[in-house]
Amino acid sequence: MSEWKIEIERCPEDRRQPIPTDGSKLGFGRLFTDHYFRCRFDREHGWHDAKIVPRTALDLDPAAMVLHYGLEVFEGLKAYRAEGDSVHLFRWRKNAERLQRSAARLEMEAPPVELFGAGVRALVELEKDWVPKAEGCSLYIRPTLVASDPFLGVRPADEFLFYVLCSPVGAYYATGFQPTRILVEEHDVRAVEGGTGEAKTGGNYAASLRAQRKAKEAGYTQVLWLDAKEHRYVEEVGTSNIFFEIDGKVITPPLGGTILPGVTRDSVLQLLKHWDVPVSEERITIDEVLKASEEGRLGEAFGTGTAAVISPVGVLGYRGRDIRIHDEKVGPLSQRLYDALTGIQYQREPDPFEWTEKVC
Ligand SMILES: *Cc1c(COP(=O)(O)O)cnc(C)c1O
Repeated sequence: MSEWKIEIERCPEDRRQPIPTDGSKLGFGRLFTDHYFRCRFDREHGWHDAKIVPRTALDLDPAAMVLHYGLEVFEGLKAYRAEGDSVHLFRWRKNAERLQRSAARLEMEAPPVELFGAGVRALVELEKDWVPKAEGCSLYIRPTLVASDPFLGVRPADEFLFYVLCSPVGAYYATGFQPTRILVEEHDVRAVEGGTGEAKTGGNYAASLRAQRKAKEAGYTQVLWLDAKEHRYVEEVGTSNIFFEIDGKVITPPLGGTILPGVTRDSVLQLLKHWDVPVSEERITIDEVLKASEEGRLGEAFGTGTAAVISPVGVLGYRGRDIRIHDEKVGPLSQRLYDALTGIQYQREPDPFEWTEKVC
């Protein structure tokens, strides 16, 4: 139980939206539930004014620091509906803790873990009818922290708004679990050492859009980011962490400041260790990946993230060539990880790590 009291102002019935029943039409991030959670911070009162209110436009000064200097950090997690209609969160504390680390990088003040949890739980409980029933669908939760001081000087902020949105989302793999085509990006970079790569902050995504558009135009789904210094070391794929299976060993780049510490990445590492699959966090160059592929030692490659869970890589485009991985088919390890993680999330399987928490 938490000490945080959350006031609830319900949306009048006549202003509520119809709750969609067709999971196949949901897509991602377009539709939002009727309420959101919000609270405020200032130096005098600390965190206060924790409320769930009908979702309307934000009351934010045009001079608010977030709008001028990008002082924003966010999170992404999901609530899943199990057989029998109970609703569960997956490892929400990891998201609350990561929000604090992201905020600290930008000299921002994040809500305490227990306030984050109380807000998310109360909101999901209120909006429980919005958690889709259809297979593979879920309620995506977007905690967001912005600096709200009306001030144009460049200095750390003193006033913050934290809010949480909920959005029902469809199955990521509408047409089945499918490998993606990934283009290795050799010019633009996502993150530099000493920069903000390990923070989930809006600016990182703004800077990634040019490469993403070019990759799409060239017929790929996403980009594979390389390190900023030598353009050799593999970092991430799009907005997911990346794993390669080479000679039966699973390799993912270590968290060294430029890589986003994914909750799914951590869960995959724990599962692989639990299964006694050899796994290591080590730096790997794109040339080593290509060499392994040429020599038939590259088994599978996959991205990990909350949205898609596991996203197998079918093709790596590099310097005008397309390298096919696992015949562009879903490999057994990707499938096993996907089944294990979604099994735990939807309560179809036991949860030996105690990763899930029942909300209602
Ligand atoms: C959010 C994100 C991930 C995945 O993190 P999860 O906690 O697994 O969802 C990976 N890389 C980037 C750049 C991200 O923004």
